[in-house]
Amino acid sequence: MTKREQQELINKGLLLPLMEEFYTIQGEGYHKGTAAYFIRVGGCDVGCHWCDVKESWLAELHPPTATEKIVENATKYSNTIVVTGGEPLMWDMNPLTEQLKAKGLQTHIETSGAYQLTGQWDWICLSPKKMKLPTEEIYDKAHELKCIVFNNDDFRFAEEQAEKVNDNCILYLQPEWSKRDKMMPKIVEYVMANPKWKVSLQTHKYLNIP
Ligand code: SF4
Repeated sequence: MTKREQQELINKGLLLPLMEEFYTIQGEGYHKGTAAYFIRVGGCDVGCHWCDVKESWLAELHPPTATEKIVENATKYSNTIVVTGGEPLMWDMNPLTEQLKAKGLQTHIETSGAYQLTGQWDWICLSPKKMKLPTEEIYDKAHELKCIVFNNDDFRFAEEQAEKVNDNCILYLQPEWSKRDKMMPKIVEYVMANPKWKVSLQTHKYLNIP
């Protein structure tokens, strides 16, 4: 296959830059504690300085992989598939999710929402970032809003984002891992004062699993 042919397949979402795939326990948000198969797609230009998967940023470093192959692997492990990144919406998610749904699997996505929403999703976790804001369309469709708290200004940003989501969207505040000791007491106090929010922790890191 020529580079050009490969790029055309990538543009159509038939090949995705696959960084890693693994079966584990969802550690965060509404589905925490649930066994799930994770598909981590490479590529992200959002640029969070505290990002814990910076290796994902450059899509070229991750092998273009056929969606059929990804789906074939996923079906061996779990009924719940979490597509994460990187920023998965940099790619057309329709082919991947069509195939996952055809196998009867539950499709979840973790996204900053910075790109057009593609794909068929049973659960959308929107984790907005100040550097590159979500598109307007995703606020209506998000099932959970997960705001990362790195500093005090993130409470303001979280409220701003909560104003935009639909009424059924579940609201989470999650401490950025390196600041958890400093920010957790503030999050606890904030959630008690503003109980529309819930606390989310990166429980997989406490469990020492991926
Ligand atoms: S959006 Fe996610 S993957 Fe991209 S830089 Fe931010 S934390 Fe990292």
